[in-house]
Amino acid sequence: MKHKFLTPIFALSAALCLCLGLAACGGGTPEDEKGADGHFHTAETFRVDDSGHWKVCTICGEKFSAGKHTFDAENACETCGYSDVYTRGLSYQLDEASDTYTLSGIGDDRDRTEVVIPNYYEGKAVTSIGAEAFDGRTPLASVVIPANVTSIGYRAFYGCTSLASLTFGGKSKLTSIGNYAFCHCKLLQKIALPADVSAIGENAFDWCAALTEIDFAGTTADWLKVEKGDSWDNETGNYVITCTDGTIDKSGNVTHSDGQ
Ligand SMILES: [Zn+2]
Ligand SMILES: [Zn+2]
Repeated sequence: MKHKFLTPIFALSAALCLCLGLAACGGGTPEDEKGADGHFHTAETFRVDDSGHWKVCTICGEKFSAGKHTFDAENACETCGYSDVYTRGLSYQLDEASDTYTLSGIGDDRDRTEVVIPNYYEGKAVTSIGAEAFDGRTPLASVVIPANVTSIGYRAFYGCTSLASLTFGGKSKLTSIGNYAFCHCKLLQKIALPADVSAIGENAFDWCAALTEIDFAGTTADWLKVEKGDSWDNETGNYVITCTDGTIDKSGNVTHSDGQ
């Protein structure tokens, strides 16, 4: 969110409009979005069960924005992203402060080749891939990371030498990729990074020797603003980053799509 230049009052009214807008989309009435004392309910993520979604207000604990899932062509709920198509038996850790789950490991079946991480676990959002979650899982070839995940931890996919397919689910909220996260993923040729990515850690793609295509959902200017740790792209392939308005090569040369 780049609101530095907005006056507080303008920012407040913008936030208010956003709340009202969301209320309208979610099918709830504005009254459904307010607590008894008139505060606007607030919550980062949805809770889900098999039939529906809702939020729990972090101020008063009331439920709001409740509704039934409506599924899109990819079998994900259009509002909350819930899908029952995911890999069973992965390991999770509850973060008490945020009341969300971190995906912490591959579980008992260490030879899995495909992992689809769910957007929710036991009704709560899965918002990060923990440190070393898939470290050294050499059979792992394909991973789908869901929209609620905002961070990928230290060494999360370190040494996944068969990892060739990495997909971020629709409307991904990913913002940060940890140090050494994909180091030694030597088969990874292509990665499509969501527009919200703002930090890539040290050595994050070090020794991804096949990496030649990076699609970035933001502009070339956005890419240049991403905070990048030392050696993040050491020993990668000679990649080109395709942004919404042009490309950037590994040496940093920017070519705008309008030819300038
Ligand atoms: Zn509330
Ligand atoms: Zn839903």
